[in-house]
Amino acid sequence: MFQCMSKADVEHMQALVTFTKRSHRTRYPVPFGASIVETKSGETFLRALNAVAREHDPSSHAEVRAIRLATKRRKNLSLAGYTLYTTCEPCPMCMSMALWAGLDRVVYGATIEDATRHFDQIHIAATEVAKRSDMRCKVVGPVLRDECYSLFNHPDFRKRPVRRKARS
Ligand SMILES: [Zn+2]
Repeated sequence: MFQCMSKADVEHMQALVTFTKRSHRTRYPVPFGASIVETKSGETFLRALNAVAREHDPSSHAEVRAIRLATKRRKNLSLAGYTLYTTCEPCPMCMSMALWAGLDRVVYGATIEDATRHFDQIHIAATEVAKRSDMRCKVVGPVLRDECYSLFNHPDFRKRPVRRKARS
């Protein structure tokens, strides 16, 4: 999975960790941040944070918000030519949206397995969602996993025992 990771990916992820970490000093601390970057130029188009609590909206994940902002700002449904960076592996909702938006690549930091120690998760890997779609999108990660996982180190995101539902 590491083969497609570049030095630029590490730098974009580092910048995103710094951006996300800033939320820890606000009323709404979150470990989840996302950025949209032009794939060729490496130029950052925009960044967004998870706003589920702030907006009382279960769909306000960082990736969904970043994609919505980007398509609206560009007045274009397609984000072909862009890469999504996210501090945590996208959930099936966010990965689906990345596919619908036609993003070139999705680069993630911490994994769903990391996040489940703090928040309930849906256990379907982003690569699995991508594999089952007709759209093409490279999924790369984990990148800077430890740095991204350190974003969960906040009293509001207490560790919880990992409980997995028995699969029938
Ligand atoms: Zn999500």
